[in-house]
Amino acid sequence: MAAQSPPQVACPTCRKPVLWVATEKFKPFCSERCKLIDLGDWATEAHKIPGPPVWDHENPGRPDADDGQPF
Ligand SMILES: [Zn+2]
Repeated sequence: MAAQSPPQVACPTCRKPVLWVATEKFKPFCSERCKLIDLGDWATEAHKIPGPPVWDHENPGRPDADDGQPF
């Protein structure tokens, strides 16, 4: 009975008001386009994160090798 209006959010990409309802498939984005734009931003950020350091097998840099263990 209570005609509650759904909550509204602002699209993170274009700031357009988006109704928080099931029919809004791309919420909190207003459209698929805005969602993809945001994801693209994330991908760009990810490229700035350096990958794991390359392990040098020739030079482990660990003097306490397992060879010394009386196991
Ligand atoms: Zn938008």
